[in-house]
Amino acid sequence: MSISTESKKTYINVEKSDVMKKELIFLGPPACGKGTQTAMLAEYLGLPHVDTGSLLRAEIKKETPNGKVAKSYIDKGNLVPVELVASIIKDRLSEDDCKDGYILDGYPRSVEQADMLDVINSDINGATKVDFKAIYFDLNQDILISRIVNRRSCPNCGEIYNIKFKPTKVEGICDKCGTALVQRKDDNEEIAKARFETYFHETAPLIDYYKNKGVLKTIDAEGSIEQVWERLLAVINE
Ligand code: AMP
Repeated sequence: MSISTESKKTYINVEKSDVMKKELIFLGPPACGKGTQTAMLAEYLGLPHVDTGSLLRAEIKKETPNGKVAKSYIDKGNLVPVELVASIIKDRLSEDDCKDGYILDGYPRSVEQADMLDVINSDINGATKVDFKAIYFDLNQDILISRIVNRRSCPNCGEIYNIKFKPTKVEGICDKCGTALVQRKDDNEEIAKARFETYFHETAPLIDYYKNKGVLKTIDAEGSIEQVWERLLAVINE
């Protein structure tokens, strides 16, 4: 979906008087659509999209020591140890392209990680003023497993498809770059169920955590990509 220049302009005008660093984090169960929406939002706002799942998969592909540890957890649908993810996130958020803000997708995933993120941010930001929002994608669980098992992604450009809801023009081939699509190893039914368990135990408590801090925005994530996008923009522009 392309992003309209008109709505982009509106957003930029609103933000011109506001020079605060923008930190947006996204919460929601596996396959709630936040990967697609956060990638679009990153392009729209010109901020980096920092996705811990992809960062960890890159470590696994490079066969680094961190990647080897991460793999044993990811393959079971469990969370990778807090310190390992924190060190990856801290390095990434310290990079120059994150100085005006970032969109964080898949981190934090537990209250412990949220506390850790506060420490990381205060180390990096010093006295910089920050506009922090936590955006929660609210979606009925029943459709999520079916979304997961039908999900395919491009190993080259990262575009995400769904063989039922967002098919490619040529079966199995990325529309953007022509690479053969792959299915993530942890996108099968058994591991998907474990990932939901982990989500409900570890990550869902963050909804109240951020609500209590007064920074939570909830979006109804049911509907088409375009419908959810409009709702997301409304919340971002609030
Ligand atoms: P995702 O691509 O966001 O669905 O993440 C895939 C897997 O990577 C998860 O099931 C976890 O095993 C691991 N992972 C991603 N982000 C985190 C995180 N913030 N903390 C711990 N493990 C994570």
